[in-house]
Amino acid sequence: MRAMVLDKPGTPLRAAEIREPEPGPGEIKLAVRTCGVCRTDLHIYDAELQGEPKLPLVMGHQIVGIVVGRGEGAERFEVGERVGVPWLGWTDGTCRYCREGRENLCEHARFTGYDVDGGYAEFTVAAEDFCFRVPPMYSDAEAAPLLCAGLIGYRALRLVGAAERIGFYGFGSSAHILCQVAVHEGRRVFAFTRDGDDEGQAFARRLGAEWAGGSSELPPEELDGAVVFAAVGPLMVQALKASARGARVISAGIHMSEIPAFSYDLLWEERTLGSVANLTRADGEDLLRVAPEVPVRAAVTTYPLEDAQRALEDARAGRIEGSAVLVVNG
Ligand SMILES: [Zn+2]
Ligand SMILES: [Zn+2]
Repeated sequence: MRAMVLDKPGTPLRAAEIREPEPGPGEIKLAVRTCGVCRTDLHIYDAELQGEPKLPLVMGHQIVGIVVGRGEGAERFEVGERVGVPWLGWTDGTCRYCREGRENLCEHARFTGYDVDGGYAEFTVAAEDFCFRVPPMYSDAEAAPLLCAGLIGYRALRLVGAAERIGFYGFGSSAHILCQVAVHEGRRVFAFTRDGDDEGQAFARRLGAEWAGGSSELPPEELDGAVVFAAVGPLMVQALKASARGARVISAGIHMSEIPAFSYDLLWEERTLGSVANLTRADGEDLLRVAPEVPVRAAVTTYPLEDAQRALEDARAGRIEGSAVLVVNG
């Protein structure tokens, strides 16, 4: 099968013919239709994550595919069904985090497109218990970004709590989806882009943001909470500066540059800094139920599988409005 293979972090993805994976017990085999490109893929590529990825690796953890095979005991999905595969690929179900309903923190979790091969390929296999049914209203390309940008962003939004005035720092793949959800929930969204990114700010306003500006600016009102999507540590402090008493500022990324030292005055009055890690299956089910009600419409820029490297570089440069998606079997 055709695949884009990462041999070593920092080296360009290689177009290769590799063996088709076959499903083991409890796994399904999917013909990949589309696979979203995530900021996390760039962090893997740049070797910025703790731990080591499987190498060589097929990245990609926002997979929409059609079931073409079932391993022993796999009967949750029919052959021919459309299924989504997220970042959380498997958990042990027995560690203290799993037992407490916090499987996103599982000590032995396996992640799609990191510990196991993902969706930058014609076929993939996935543990069926961790897959999702994809709402029928979405095209294959539109559904892909919901599977990580959407649902990990959704988890971050939940962690911020009931904030009415919410700031989104970094308005890319994840924020453009969550902006729609937040507005639907009756929140007031304040969007922060790179300074001078007028197009990004206009994009945010079109999606319902009440205000949009550069990330070095302060918003016209205090924020009751914020999600920092950009992997830029100083933005955590910037968001605190913009925050009202009791605000929670949550980082939605898996990696971030160093957070500079700041005065305790910024944290005082029960402001909180926090992070979101991975997802639970319940997060996924929730977002995929809510998205069609909003309805969330992801803005996607599509690339053929073989252009995965170009998609990564465009995502890195912030050249994409919304989400980058590889079309594998369109
Ligand atoms: Zn566990
Ligand atoms: Zn991701």
